[in-house]
Amino acid sequence: MPRVYTSPAAQISNAPGVRPQTKSERQRTTQKLRYLSHYDALTNLPNRASVRSRLRKALKHAECLSARLAVVFLSLDPYQRINETLGPAMGDRLVRCVAKRLKETIGANHVVGYWGSGEFVLLLEYSGEESDVLEIAQAIKKRIERRFFSFGQEFFLTSSIGIAVCPSQATAVEALLRNAAAAHRQAKECGGNGCRFYTVDMNVRSLERFTLENSLGRGLRRREFSLHYQPEVDAVSRQITGAEALIRWDHPKLGQVQPGDFIPLAEKNGTIVPIGEWVLRAACRQLKKWHVDGFKKLNLAINVSARQFQERAPADVIVKILAENRLDPTRVELELTESLLIADSDHVVQSLGKLKDIGVKLALDDFGTGFSSLEYLCRLPLDILKIDRSFVRAASSRDGAALLSSIINLAHKLGLRVVAEGVETREQSTLLQGLGCDSLQGFLFSPPLPGEQFKRLLLYPNCRFEEVEEFAHPSASSRPKRAIA
Ligand code: C2E
Ligand code: MG
Ligand code: MG
Repeated sequence: MPRVYTSPAAQISNAPGVRPQTKSERQRTTQKLRYLSHYDALTNLPNRASVRSRLRKALKHAECLSARLAVVFLSLDPYQRINETLGPAMGDRLVRCVAKRLKETIGANHVVGYWGSGEFVLLLEYSGEESDVLEIAQAIKKRIERRFFSFGQEFFLTSSIGIAVCPSQATAVEALLRNAAAAHRQAKECGGNGCRFYTVDMNVRSLERFTLENSLGRGLRRREFSLHYQPEVDAVSRQITGAEALIRWDHPKLGQVQPGDFIPLAEKNGTIVPIGEWVLRAACRQLKKWHVDGFKKLNLAINVSARQFQERAPADVIVKILAENRLDPTRVELELTESLLIADSDHVVQSLGKLKDIGVKLALDDFGTGFSSLEYLCRLPLDILKIDRSFVRAASSRDGAALLSSIINLAHKLGLRVVAEGVETREQSTLLQGLGCDSLQGFLFSPPLPGEQFKRLLLYPNCRFEEVEEFAHPSASSRPKRAIA
């Protein structure tokens, strides 16, 4: 029997329990299906498949006319946050408004398509310089930044834009899209609300990042991670009172990878959860050893990521690790950043409360770099405030010193112990001590050291920090500038 072709519209109308459609109804359904296969239902803009096919055609057209073509990747910076906080319906409404504004701004000669998740792709034909494209991009950004109104609420959106131009950078459809996406990622990583043109090294960096991201799990299985410990000293006595555990990754191909380069990737792909658990276990095991060796009053600060606290029972994992090592919980400090506090307040506050109840200390890390909301300081059961090193660096100016003084006073009024990070010079340490800062941490005293070397610091409590330098092997960039007298 020859097979008879049945159109999708006829298949729907022939489905059991469905009234057979009239011919005109079938035609309408076919038209609708055809429309939906090319257009996004939310914005009525060309969808991904349609953008690709239009880009293919535009490339041919540009080739014939020797015209130039730019592919623009645009995302709305706070899209995820709007969805999470105000709900997806509000996110959809804003996306629809932005789609309308984009269409109006670029006019009928260019193409704007919806890529999904608050991201748009624009195809711009131009004849002159790249600066012409930048001008259009700036006009688009400005238009998006005009306020939106929805249900009496006012919104301000910013956007991140990545641009790849043809023919100078790439001529193939996928290469252009990939390059525009790489430029867009760069714009986002530089804090968002910006515009970047693609450069060749972006793809090299993307590839490196991809390699890193993919080898995180394997790195953990193959024990490529280790912990270093940086002392925290009492501002007055200059005795070591504690340490901060800092992760290191000895990558088999790339060598030493800095936490700043891989922690954000691990947070993104979720491997921070097992890596963070490994850090907690290894750090607690090390602290127990030092306590057994006689340094019973030593405290250890451990960094935890927001993502670890999004797990179902983050406090239980920590309680279990403390119990496994029979550690005094009051000797353990967890360093949290403000991103954690924004993530999911109630759940986080509950988990933190649980840890606080058993005596674990809670520190707010990098204070001054995030939102620095006073609300967090009052609402959370914090014990310690760690002032970011950017404030310490600015201490030599009058305004910088005044700011440090106000932060220290405020923290003390709230009953918090204050630790200054990134202390590199004797002048900074003297000033901080004078302002009443409780503890100091930084290259002036010691860089982060492997566990055995840190123990030598503990074994010679009266040693001057100069003597420590002989067995500290920091990289040239992290070598302490000056040892403390
Ligand atoms: P952080 O927690 O604020 O750690 C302090 C960072 O400042 C460390 O960088 C340390 O080596 C560096 N530092 C210390 N003293 C000085 C100084 O005097 N001058 C300067 N310029 N820098 C100083 P590191 O080890 O590269 O870590 C960077 C960040 O990575 C940490 O910042 C922390 O946010 C994150 N991190 C490190 N280890 C872990 C971990 O085990 N888990 C998580 N979630 N994050 C970690
Ligand atoms: Mg820290
Ligand atoms: Mg810090």
